[in-house]
Amino acid sequence: MPYPKNWVQGQKGSMENIQDTSVSEAKINFFDLTMDQLKEKIQSFGKEKYRAQQLYQWVYQKGVADFSQMTNLSKEFREELPKLFEFRRPELVSHLKSAIDGTQKFLFKLAEGMTFEAVLIPSKDRLTLCVSSEVGCNMACRFCFTAKQKLQKRLSAGDIVSQFQVVNEKIAPEKITNVVFMGMGEPLDNPDAVFNSIKILNSEWGLNFSRKRVTISTSGLVPGLKDIAKSGARLAVSLNATTNEMRDFVMPINKKYPLEVLMEGCREYYELAKDGITFEYVLLNDVNDTLEDAKRIKELTRGIPSKINLIPFNEHPGSEFKRPASKKVFEFQEHLMKMGMHVLIRRTMGRDIYAACGQLRSVYEGKPTHMTSDVMTTPELTQLG
Ligand code: SF4
Repeated sequence: MPYPKNWVQGQKGSMENIQDTSVSEAKINFFDLTMDQLKEKIQSFGKEKYRAQQLYQWVYQKGVADFSQMTNLSKEFREELPKLFEFRRPELVSHLKSAIDGTQKFLFKLAEGMTFEAVLIPSKDRLTLCVSSEVGCNMACRFCFTAKQKLQKRLSAGDIVSQFQVVNEKIAPEKITNVVFMGMGEPLDNPDAVFNSIKILNSEWGLNFSRKRVTISTSGLVPGLKDIAKSGARLAVSLNATTNEMRDFVMPINKKYPLEVLMEGCREYYELAKDGITFEYVLLNDVNDTLEDAKRIKELTRGIPSKINLIPFNEHPGSEFKRPASKKVFEFQEHLMKMGMHVLIRRTMGRDIYAACGQLRSVYEGKPTHMTSDVMTTPELTQLG
């Protein structure tokens, strides 16, 4: 489908009328370019660098993605630009809102037909967007539904930025306050696109979204931790086990970067970023939820300013693990707190709209989605788009 030529925003900052994503690979997707990359391109076409700032302002601040409407550019330049750039973003094919807790789930489709998700999670003072960085994932974490969908595509920076823009447009006048790379895919397996998307989000000429409101969650690709520190984003590490034997089983990446290497990488990250780390810990019944595990978490994280996010496992079709009883979860938390740790239990959000990564995608693609009654409560979906 050709990109609408006469597309102009409906309101300031809105790109409501962008529909998709045809593929004409010869042209550069404007949304993929950081300010520095855009400047370079503009210069290579014999234009002044500051024109890049004007373009960013039109597109990201005024919401205009039609070069002919960019009136502070010369007519000749306006006519030239569509030959070089186009505006492609993934199509939003489904938008669901949880009737239980207000979580919203967005399903996007690439021009190639592959789909991926973003989830908007409301809390007291935040609207956090959980974005995907890949379609599928090769990290093979055993508790993860996305892992069952092998890596199909690494998303581009523009695909990531588009998740942010589309969701912001859908929820206007509300705005996303935080972004977490915790959706489908391992962000450090797709570092160029992920770090470029953060630069685009952060540009003062564009969306001006603070880097400190962006968190990258990794399964533990240790060499990339320094790059997260350099990017200015915050770090979350998916820990999920306290011995190498168990972590090798639950998260095979541990065979390459075992716990001692991971924790050393976390210490180095802290030295560079001077920023605390969030350790996520998915509680799997009778697997990693003993009091000995709690003690080992304390030992592993010693000397690293951090908080622990306990995530009681969300069962999904075919999962080999069980969710621990609430009593056990609270006991685990209490034990960590008694040792002086800062521990939160993550609320389970969006159960009625297929909370686990990749589940909405499966619904859309007609793959099995059955849920047992203790996992899926009140399947009351509100289809918003
Ligand atoms: S938990 Fe994250 S890194 Fe692990 S398989 Fe799932 S998407 Fe990939």
